[in-house]
Amino acid sequence: MVESAGGAPDLPATQLGYFDDMWQLQASAHVLSVLVEESKIAIIVDCTILYPQGGGQPSDKGFILSIDEQTRFRVEDVRTRDGLVYHYGFFEASDLGNSSTFQIGQEVILYVDKSRRQLNSRLHTAGHLIDVCIENIGLSSLQPGKGHHFPDGPFVEYKGAVPASDIESRRAALEAEANRLVAAGSTVQAAVCSYEEARNRCGGQLPDYIAKDSKPRIVSIGSSFGCPCGGTHVKDISEIGSMKVSQIRVKKGLTKVSYNVCICQRTNVPRPSRKKCR
Ligand SMILES: [Zn+2]
Repeated sequence: MVESAGGAPDLPATQLGYFDDMWQLQASAHVLSVLVEESKIAIIVDCTILYPQGGGQPSDKGFILSIDEQTRFRVEDVRTRDGLVYHYGFFEASDLGNSSTFQIGQEVILYVDKSRRQLNSRLHTAGHLIDVCIENIGLSSLQPGKGHHFPDGPFVEYKGAVPASDIESRRAALEAEANRLVAAGSTVQAAVCSYEEARNRCGGQLPDYIAKDSKPRIVSIGSSFGCPCGGTHVKDISEIGSMKVSQIRVKKGLTKVSYNVCICQRTNVPRPSRKKCR
């Protein structure tokens, strides 16, 4: 039976499998806790490959299955709290009437929903690509701010303003540069570095929230330069498909670049189900 929740479980921090390998969609793990929080069931395992919501990116969906695949837990949402990754969802009815929960210590198989991961990774990587394009079109005075890489209107925001008279030409230039780079293709790399190396690879500066004794993960497109990021990414930016920079808006000294990804002409990656290409 499920355990009842009594505050944060006293468990070791969940290992983040996606940190080292962003493209592993199936892995084994061991169950550390099955608990109920406000009538929602949460599973905690020792090491997860499912990406928890964060960094402007939605969580993965997927499954946690027993080895004989008779106990199936459908993962609807994944969240991190106090170093633990909580997989929220529900047990699906089994044909054979098997146990509808996991035992503590039981080995299970984690599956990541591939099409959702790919869409999230494409939207998120596109955000990095816009950062690169901002530099390439000569707007390097803009400082990266927050990003929102959800399917419901993705954007990246920068500190600094683009003059109103330049907005349309900059939007067109950004879109053209993004599509030029996507068409050329380039590998995306994520490497865990020492603080010093990470700082060098980020052009001499790291954000304040990164501790000096930590080992940041630096994500870069094409070159060795990059930025600290814990998200999931495509292997090659050609997977992003064509890009649309739909709007640049300047408000209170912030420049917001809205974008979207489109893959209508491509067949090697699944199409997003809701968004149509404009
Ligand atoms: Zn990233």
